[in-house]
Amino acid sequence: MSLEIVHYNDPVLRKKGEKITVFDEALASFAGEMIDTMHKAMGIGLAAQQVGRAVQVCVVDLRPAEAEFEWKLDGASPPLEVFMPMVIVNPKVTVSKRAPLAPLEEGCLSFPEIRGTVVRADVIGVKFQDEKGLAHTLECTGLLARCILHEVDHLHGVLFIDRMEKEVRALIDDSVKALAKRTRAERAAAPS
Ligand code: ZN
Repeated sequence: MSLEIVHYNDPVLRKKGEKITVFDEALASFAGEMIDTMHKAMGIGLAAQQVGRAVQVCVVDLRPAEAEFEWKLDGASPPLEVFMPMVIVNPKVTVSKRAPLAPLEEGCLSFPEIRGTVVRADVIGVKFQDEKGLAHTLECTGLLARCILHEVDHLHGVLFIDRMEKEVRALIDDSVKALAKRTRAERAAAPS
């Protein structure tokens, strides 16, 4: 089953996600639905806020992405097929001060057809739990690092438009305002 993706400026996108403390069947099925929703929308990442729930869960699947990046999951380098799609619960990201920065154009499923360049760290570490509550550590670079940073931002109510440089943000300002207006109108029209 797939879930409805909420668009900017739905208030839930600005909510900080609560930590997950119960790793039960309901969490596993929610994570499964998030994965279906991400795949159906042709996305490479999706955060719980984007389907209307402010909790610390996001999903990532970079198998379709044509990009070069590196990873170490729990100290090993398994093929992507083995651990993607990933369910990331309660993530804690660390970025070294010496991490190189890289610019890349990003999109977001909550901002249909809006894209803009965001500068992010190109190397990160992340500690997280999976849907069963097992702890993992991941070190990664490139698009995987970027995707996780983007999704973890969502879990804290931070959006990619907040990360853009002023000049980049200005270029999409009209589209962002129009989207916010559309979302407001849809919410007003939706049965509660
Ligand atoms: Zn996003």
